[in-house]
Amino acid sequence: MSIVENLAALQAEIPKEVTLVAVSKTKPDEAILEAYNAGQRIFGENKVQDLAAKAERLPKDIQWHMIGHVQTNKIKYFAPFVSLVHGVDRLKVLKELNKEAVKNNRVIDCLLQVFIADEETKFGFSAEEITALFKDKTLENYPNLRVRGLMGMATFTDNQTQVAEEFATLKSLFDEVIATFNLQPSTFNVLSMGMSGDYPVAIKNGSNMIRVGTKIFGERNY
Ligand SMILES: *Cc1c(COP(=O)(O)O)cnc(C)c1O
Repeated sequence: MSIVENLAALQAEIPKEVTLVAVSKTKPDEAILEAYNAGQRIFGENKVQDLAAKAERLPKDIQWHMIGHVQTNKIKYFAPFVSLVHGVDRLKVLKELNKEAVKNNRVIDCLLQVFIADEETKFGFSAEEITALFKDKTLENYPNLRVRGLMGMATFTDNQTQVAEEFATLKSLFDEVIATFNLQPSTFNVLSMGMSGDYPVAIKNGSNMIRVGTKIFGERNY
């Protein structure tokens, strides 16, 4: 199937309140433009160099999401234009992202990444750290950031029960911080979870933003 057909099939399958981030990492401009011409406007990249280069070359109404692990010395390359940063996984990123947002005289939308997987390689805050961030009003130190919600990645496993439990855990945390800290539903409303292999389980467990690459663009050749 073509990119356009893959995209149409996916859009038909997911509820309309779920936002689709088309993960175009490693894919050429032509592939992105195919999806763009079919109406897709939100694209995700995980490498800063690629993100910046593609944003420079491709249509200006694309909303670029940074979905990868953030190295703080590279924030300056995407701070001027990024639409949403998914992987804010430690205090240093909050601090440096805020600094670059100030320099660019803008407010940057971001998600706090939560560690939910049974793997040591995935990044993120623990549930306790997330609760503490709100309890201690830490985010008030970063007025040029708007924390829009949470992001998480499940364990890479065929065990769908385990994946469902991990997503459900993140959804509970999301609901809990909203209720406990009286967060505004107009701003804190994004729960980014689900990729090609697990987005149906993620949506069943409360995701409203999925990040899908392979299922749209095909396998990646690194
Ligand atoms: C690559 C990537 C995705 C998309 O993965 P697919 O399995 O190709 O859908 C989603 N989220 C993050 C953080 C990624 O790095």
